[in-house]
Amino acid sequence: MDARIKHVFGPAKSRTRISRHDGAGSSDTFLIMRTVHVIGAGLAGLSAATGLIPSGCRIVVHEATAYPGGRCRSYHDHATGLQIDNGNHLLLSGNRAVMSYLDAIGSRTRLTVPDAADFPFADLATGARWTLRINDGRLPWWIFDASRRVPGTRPFDYVAMAKLLAAGPAKTVCDVVACKGPLYEQLLSPLIVAALNTDPKEGSAKLAAAVVRESILAGGEACRPLVAHDGLGPVLVEPAIAHLRQNNVTIQFGHEVRAIAMTRSKVTSLEFEAESVAIGTNDAVILAVPPYAAASLVPSLTVPVEFRAILNAHFRVEPPACLPRVMGVLNGAVEWIFSFPGRLSVTVSNADRYMQSPREGLAKTIWQEVSAVSGVAGDLPRWQIVRERRATFAATPEQELRRPQAQTAWTNLFLAGDWTATGLPATIEGAVRSGQRAAQLVSRSNQGW
Ligand SMILES: Cc1cc2nc3c(=O)[nH]c(=O)nc-3n(C[C@H](O)[C@H](O)[C@H](O)COP(=O)(O)OP(=O)(O)OC[C@H]3O[C@@H](n4cnc5c(N)ncnc54)[C@H](O)[C@@H]3O)c2cc1C
Repeated sequence: MDARIKHVFGPAKSRTRISRHDGAGSSDTFLIMRTVHVIGAGLAGLSAATGLIPSGCRIVVHEATAYPGGRCRSYHDHATGLQIDNGNHLLLSGNRAVMSYLDAIGSRTRLTVPDAADFPFADLATGARWTLRINDGRLPWWIFDASRRVPGTRPFDYVAMAKLLAAGPAKTVCDVVACKGPLYEQLLSPLIVAALNTDPKEGSAKLAAAVVRESILAGGEACRPLVAHDGLGPVLVEPAIAHLRQNNVTIQFGHEVRAIAMTRSKVTSLEFEAESVAIGTNDAVILAVPPYAAASLVPSLTVPVEFRAILNAHFRVEPPACLPRVMGVLNGAVEWIFSFPGRLSVTVSNADRYMQSPREGLAKTIWQEVSAVSGVAGDLPRWQIVRERRATFAATPEQELRRPQAQTAWTNLFLAGDWTATGLPATIEGAVRSGQRAAQLVSRSNQGW
């Protein structure tokens, strides 16, 4: 008996036809559906799986932990008695990949979209309060309006941002723009630290330029701050899981890939604790795990190896009604305060300096600052401190050069994750874009074997 495998083009592109001939003239034909294995159910993996649905292939998601979402998740916290996010995540209305992902999973309406791109700031050193108001449209007339731009700046100062756009890949932010003065201290530094999670002195000018290009330079419509007020899970994660399941995607939790067997050109099997899953001739694998996990599964990959921490503090208090939903804070430990129903939460980026500090002391210091900004007086309320030590890769020029493309030396292996070469720092937008790109490449690769 010979078995011939033939690719079927057209609507059933994701199926492989196998014809068996018994030598006596009779034959029998059946179809095997192509399987795509997505390793990791963070946002890169979830967006890859979502993007694969239209291709009609069988999709299996393998997640090592018991929950989806990876570094972007909600859970019940015993210390505060509240549902919290591991970290406050800020999205911008110009995050186009995220928006299309939310449309696909049906949860865009769960994000609150403010009417304007306003960013209130409080300066703890001077007590000053001001609001950056970026106008809609591409013509940035807000920089000519003293009531909209950063206090103490002149319109000409903003040319510095344009300098970033022309920076070469080896440059840091501070190689290109003056890292001092009111514009830097009150806008560029907070923006870059938040987006790159890296000090501007060592942060990649190229990545900072990508952020500026897709936010401030894109105008107010692209800069509306979007916060998941019911938490990240109900907006970005749970609807994705429901959507994937409705579309017959198999999601396996507690299913860690321990090893990937490969020849010089192809992945041949995935190894789990108790089983080995063969990768068929036309199957594909999307590896959507953090860089250190990817490098341990595929040691010849070049990946970022330096990381930066993010610290979040959550306090169980009712925020005053007048407090903005997101507020920048200058000259304190606190960088951003997020106001949620029944909770005030704080983000500190590039926070390696706080990783060894005693938790209670941190909570007290941060609460004093939150109290000063928010006007909520009183003793330290119920609190939680969440420290993500490897929150993102360090967005330095050196680490940027270590980010691999989605395509690999193995024809059926594709990479996704915020650390791959997305052109953006490690963000939700980058993670989702990487997943969508990997899904596109897999769909195209179906025609090539
Ligand atoms: C505290 C914090 C605050 C942040 N704030 C913001 C923000 O304000 N705005 C923003 O845009 N971004 C923010 N980010 C970044 C954002 O969360 C990440 O860029 C994004 O979540 C990364 O998604 P990912 O899918 O690439 O990776 P991950 O979320 O790391 O997902 C990888 C998944 O792979 C799984 N996995 C690992 N190894 C295996 C294996 N062997 N087998 C199977 N599964 C495996 C992991 O368990 C995980 O679920 C923040 C991150 C943190 C930590």
